[in-house]
Amino acid sequence: MQHSSAPAPGSTAGGPAQFEGRAQFEGRVREWFGANAPRKGSPEDFSAVHVVSARSPQEYHEQEEHAITVTRAWQRRLFDAGLAGRSWPAECGGHGAPDWQDEVVAAEQARWGVSTKMFAVALEMVPAVLFGHGTHEQRVAYLPPVLRGEHGWCQLLSEPGAGSDLASVSTRATPMDGGWSVTGQKVWTSNAGCSDYALLIARTGSREEGRAGLSCFALKMEQPGIDIRPLRQMSGAYHFNEVFLDNAFVPENGLIGGLGDGWAVLRTMLASERAAIGGGTSARSATQLVGLARQLGCSDDPGVRDLLAQAVIRERTLDLLRARIAAGHTVPAAGPTTKLLYSEHARLSADAATTILGMAVTLVDDPQSAPWIERLLFAPGLRLGGGTDEIQRNTIAERGLGLPR
Ligand SMILES: Cc1cc2nc3c(=O)[nH]c(=O)nc-3n(C[C@H](O)[C@H](O)[C@H](O)COP(=O)(O)OP(=O)(O)OC[C@H]3O[C@@H](n4cnc5c(N)ncnc54)[C@H](O)[C@@H]3O)c2cc1C
Repeated sequence: MQHSSAPAPGSTAGGPAQFEGRAQFEGRVREWFGANAPRKGSPEDFSAVHVVSARSPQEYHEQEEHAITVTRAWQRRLFDAGLAGRSWPAECGGHGAPDWQDEVVAAEQARWGVSTKMFAVALEMVPAVLFGHGTHEQRVAYLPPVLRGEHGWCQLLSEPGAGSDLASVSTRATPMDGGWSVTGQKVWTSNAGCSDYALLIARTGSREEGRAGLSCFALKMEQPGIDIRPLRQMSGAYHFNEVFLDNAFVPENGLIGGLGDGWAVLRTMLASERAAIGGGTSARSATQLVGLARQLGCSDDPGVRDLLAQAVIRERTLDLLRARIAAGHTVPAAGPTTKLLYSEHARLSADAATTILGMAVTLVDDPQSAPWIERLLFAPGLRLGGGTDEIQRNTIAERGLGLPR
């Protein structure tokens, strides 16, 4: 990775960056990345650092720590360069710039061998939740450390008896002196072991109240009463965890939104999650498939060309849809639609890679096959995480197309 003296877009040289026009800002962002980010495919490329697999929880933990360290360092560089949270208010660590500046930075970042995916919840869902429902004090307390790459967050939503139907959450938050005592069990919590805080949905009302009995909290993960147990996936990762809560403590000011407003907060959180997954920078598998076919010398094979063309079309469709959303056009059920297209794209691209690689797809230690094996095994998970494909289809039907339940 090179280090440069290129002026950061957020620098004050030449006037405040938020008054720059789009073309000028884009130029300066491009210049900064060109001088500071590793190229995709270079030895320093860490765009896949968040994809971790290992043979034991210990080995996984070490690799996860590495991924967090690399991500923290990169996020800190973005922050120091004035590129993190461009549109966020200054008191939250941002620059008060127009939203499009964040899009410019995200689009440029996607072109380079870098990733902030280990902090996806912190950088994408926490701000949506706090700007939508949090107090000024909560924003000022929680958001600057996120932008500086200091705090990672996870989501404590799903439970053994509550996945698609989160209205059935039974983890309970009981009022106590100075705050809340939380007891219950969560499951499928991504990155629980390396997160500083969690967005927690817990029951504060009766079970009969359903959605109205839920509240959202900011929970500190390192404290007595929280037991995190990794779950092994078929890809060899321990990305998920069971989280047992036994009188874990949330201070009074950790309640996000009003008491009983958990469902509204959850909707904001899930909408931002779906948009984040659907708009994810890892949707670039068509480009990588073309590269794979060229490396293996089969890019002229008519069957392979057909698979590549389909992947390019899917990716282009997703890109155009994202561009429409970013440009402010009304796209009904935008989050569920992009999330669904993305999970299908990931699954079909992994299938295409299997065909292109042939028997080599069984060679787990082969550097060419390994990343695709990882994706192949992770693809089914993408159809579930952030709400299953069936749930996205229901939402598109009801909210996007106005069909009856
Ligand atoms: C990669 C990944 C990451 C995840 N990360 C997290 C995390 O960080 N935090 C967290 O809390 N959870 C996380 N989850 C859990 C995820 O949110 C749940 O798996 C998901 O919501 C589905 O819940 P469930 O597994 O209980 O399945 P269920 O809800 O029991 O669903 C079982 C099946 O029934 C179908 N179904 C259910 N209801 C309906 C309906 N109304 N109409 C049609 N079909 C229906 C589903 O589509 C599914 O096929 C993650 C999951 C994955 C795979």
